Amino acid sequence: MSIDFGTDIYEEPIVAKTFLQEDAQEGSLRPKTLREYIGQEKAKGNLAVFIEAAKRRGESLDHVLLHGPPGLGKTTLAGIIAQEMGVNIRITSGPAIEKAGDLAALLTNLNENDILFVDEIHRLNRAVEEILYPAMEDYAIDIIIGKGPSANSIRLDLPHFTLIGATTRSGQLSAPLRDRFGVTLRLELYTPEELCEIVTRSAGILNVEIEPEGAMEIAKRSRGTPRIANRMLRRVRDFAEVRANGVITRPVADEALRALEIDRLGLDPIDRRMLRAVIENYGGGPVGLETLAATIGEEAVTLEDVYEPYLMQLGFLTRTPRGRCVTKKAYDHLGIAVQGALAGENGQLSF
Ligand code: ADP
Repeated sequence: MSIDFGTDIYEEPIVAKTFLQEDAQEGSLRPKTLREYIGQEKAKGNLAVFIEAAKRRGESLDHVLLHGPPGLGKTTLAGIIAQEMGVNIRITSGPAIEKAGDLAALLTNLNENDILFVDEIHRLNRAVEEILYPAMEDYAIDIIIGKGPSANSIRLDLPHFTLIGATTRSGQLSAPLRDRFGVTLRLELYTPEELCEIVTRSAGILNVEIEPEGAMEIAKRSRGTPRIANRMLRRVRDFAEVRANGVITRPVADEALRALEIDRLGLDPIDRRMLRAVIENYGGGPVGLETLAATIGEEAVTLEDVYEPYLMQLGFLTRTPRGRCVTKKAYDHLGIAVQGALAGENGQLSF
């Protein structure tokens, strides 16, 4: 019997931004307390102070905006804040709140000090967003009853609640909304050491035997993102069970990830296609994001939110006012010779 561990047995790429069927176990892997939440020391340090202060005063926590690429732990952190504050959390998302009435229903059902978590808050529509301003500022909403000249506005008081908004693109948030958050925390890509700790912790919960070198191999290839690290762990576990005796060693992790077309830096076929397109079709750049997306048949938002942060962290891609450029490091990684260009100090190429 031959088992193909190539990408085609899984429907979605490992880097996928959306929630996959295989992520269903994510709940059990979610840390429940700040202490268990690995990394993000700056954000955690600030939060610990705000939580302690709010608890001492017996007040609700100030509204919190969390931003950073998908899979870095924004939803997890919101759950932890609720747990540490000892309050309930209601979870929703920007696109799920279609009408002003939907938001009013959510807000009026909250208890004192509860948390409302709105994922993808940059996707709230305008009418809904306007209800949110007085709700965040004065804990009240204005409801219009009736139509035309006889319409009446009534003010409804709300419990003191905390809004936690999560976004992958804080630049798209309107200024009035952004200004109403008292605390803004930016989550950063994780280091391989932090991801190694996360993989080891998840393996313990999933009852998978893993050697430290195996965990580090997965960590180094999971592009700074815990969700990807956990996905890789599950796929490598499947491989280890079939091909090895269930133990994840470094060679097992390496072989499994290679079969999934993830290279030693964690780049997947789309990353490589993107870099190659800039090199082969646009002489290394600059090329506009939309043009690049059309060239490789992906959505511009996906490239910007999911692929670019890691390629930029690796120093493979730079954003310039005239478009995206590939650096010498990327040429070297792909084994392509740079023709007729001079590499500057930061690897940026000039022709
Ligand atoms: P986001 O909301 O930013 O897209 P999530 O909070 O859903 O990301 O996190 C994705 C998964 O990654 C979670 O299921 C959790 O298991 C894991 N995770 C995220 N951050 C951490 C962390 N700091 N420590 C341990 N696991 C984490």
